[in-house]
Amino acid sequence: MILFTNNKSSRLDYILEFARNFLTGKQFVVSSDVAEYRNYIGQKINYSPERIADNEIWIKPCSLLFKKEISEQNIECFEVNGYKAFFKTGGGYPFDIFAASFYLLSRYEEYLTHQKDEYGRYSHTNSLAYTEGFLNLPLVNIWIKDLKQVINAQFPNFPTSNNQLFTFIPTYDIDEAWAYKNKVWWRNTGGALRDVLKGDLKRVATRLNVIRGKLQDPYDTYEWLDTLNEKYNLNPVYFFLAANKKGKFDKNISPANFQWQKLVKRHSEKYAAGIHPSWRSGDEPELLKSEITILEMISERKIVGSRQHYIRFAFPETYRKLLEAGITEDYSMGYGSINGFRASVATHFIGMIWKRKKKHLYSLILSVSWMPIHIMNISLLPNKLTKNLCTIIIQ
Ligand SMILES: [Zn+2]
Repeated sequence: MILFTNNKSSRLDYILEFARNFLTGKQFVVSSDVAEYRNYIGQKINYSPERIADNEIWIKPCSLLFKKEISEQNIECFEVNGYKAFFKTGGGYPFDIFAASFYLLSRYEEYLTHQKDEYGRYSHTNSLAYTEGFLNLPLVNIWIKDLKQVINAQFPNFPTSNNQLFTFIPTYDIDEAWAYKNKVWWRNTGGALRDVLKGDLKRVATRLNVIRGKLQDPYDTYEWLDTLNEKYNLNPVYFFLAANKKGKFDKNISPANFQWQKLVKRHSEKYAAGIHPSWRSGDEPELLKSEITILEMISERKIVGSRQHYIRFAFPETYRKLLEAGITEDYSMGYGSINGFRASVATHFIGMIWKRKKKHLYSLILSVSWMPIHIMNISLLPNKLTKNLCTIIIQ
């Protein structure tokens, strides 16, 4: 497939690299030579302001992919095939699908001035996907599927690929491996005192019974999860919080605890294991590397996967630090506050971050692989949804 453009840019290269996996699986031939484009035998996309050939798909570009700066965009949504779209440019295609996909995938809006939520994170209420009501859709995947149909209709002799790139991966964050078991005595004593002061005697009794071994720890669901993983033939990833220092948001069992080490070892032998960087590591980056080292020593595996605790991350710093720490797969592309597709995509992809070169100029660097999150159990809980309704949302 050939794509004609008057201007080459790293932003365009990035989005073409993403799209090609769904279209032909092969690299685009990107050309600025009109004769080469006209003589090309195969599918043709013209990404320039004027029509060039009779048999082509003409996507008229807006300027986004050829700019070097990051600036507020004036976005007006409209409907195409029953779905939202934006960057209407008036070419042969209803909108600039490449620029619009780039805007969503790159998380462009998270580099602009925005509201933070109560945890200091980018608030989902800022996002176009939320305000325009398409957060529940992998809109970029839908757009590319539509483009593929248009290509197939126009070039029936050149079939596109049938790449099915979606996979379901269950993931578990082990923030606090047990509620009561395997904790140092003063944490249990302090917890019990707090429960007494709150008048929660039921919790005091549960704690005592768990410690005496008469009741199963409420967080000890590992064998049940094993059964599910086996029954449904799943390949889950377990993310372990391995902070040495406790804090308001870091309540993990100490990595020095032998039972915790056994748990990590058992899981990393059977499944993929990743780091769940502590909250504190967001403020003290040297902790990230030491937590990864701890997990690597215990699991005896190279740790390359990560999920941010509380989905706390900020562009581009968090990803720069993850890259520096040797992480190549990140599973945080979602919101901790609501379910949905943060980058409007349901398939994994190579992320990108911007590096500031001069005052307003940015260069693009490839980041880690992003594994989008769609559903988090914690985001279903506050709405007190019924089991049936949860099932419908997940589907
Ligand atoms: Zn967590």
